[in-house]
Amino acid sequence: MTRFQYFITSSLMFCMLFGSGVYGENQRNPVKTIRLYALDCSMIDMFDISAYSDSGQFDGQKKALADPCYLIRHPKGDFLWDTGWEQTLAETPGGLMTNRYHAVMARTLTDQLSDLGLKPADIGKVSISHAHPDHVGNANLFAGSTFIVNKAEYTAMFSEEARKRPARFKLYNDLEGADTILFETEHDVFGDGLVVINSMPGHTPGHSALMLRLKNSGTLLFSGDLYIISESRDLGAYPSFNTDKPETVRSMKKFEALAKKENARVVIQHEKADFLALPHFPAYLD
Ligand SMILES: [Zn+2]
Repeated sequence: MTRFQYFITSSLMFCMLFGSGVYGENQRNPVKTIRLYALDCSMIDMFDISAYSDSGQFDGQKKALADPCYLIRHPKGDFLWDTGWEQTLAETPGGLMTNRYHAVMARTLTDQLSDLGLKPADIGKVSISHAHPDHVGNANLFAGSTFIVNKAEYTAMFSEEARKRPARFKLYNDLEGADTILFETEHDVFGDGLVVINSMPGHTPGHSALMLRLKNSGTLLFSGDLYIISESRDLGAYPSFNTDKPETVRSMKKFEALAKKENARVVIQHEKADFLALPHFPAYLD
């Protein structure tokens, strides 16, 4: 395993405290076993998904997408995978309508966390599959969390080019000052092999997928946007807006090998059927 990580602002002592489980003792409403909560962080009706394939496989098609956030409650702390669409959407009457999509949000992420007695500040660790707006919409709520991120994604997020797109940049700019863990190949979030982020680049420079091992429900593999919808996986479709095609193809092979090896339940994050097949929040999988 080639794991490369370093801590930008946190002291060594702080990291040792995390590693020794002290953090978990401070967890609000602590859990004894690991749990997965699937939160609805917007629903997006796409009017044209032709861009999800560079070879015309989806021409003339539309599709209703889910845009979930996943909260993993672990005895050592709370971890959020993806932060969804910016939650001001919940207060936008009728949602957001453009010529490409209609996005709606039933409840804010903050409101949903409160059902579990949690505030954004209670979430100890946060990570993202990638830095597109439908995944980093609420990232700034977690500027006090430890930000775990693929090194290549971090570099792109805080590049000069990214700063020239203020509407996107302002969704996550506060993370620049957060305690940060950068990884290149993979990162074991709690050090016990139960929650592991794997680098799967191509959709963006440091796109990543998440593997979760649950006691009763087995292993789950979350796709990020490596596959945007289930048809993408069936067809091996390559979106025309990905940053690197050969990298995407390699990541798809890596994902499939991991899914097979782990006999994992694959969750295509934007696939509404996959989202609805998970327990309806606040119910959870364990
Ligand atoms: Zn997405």
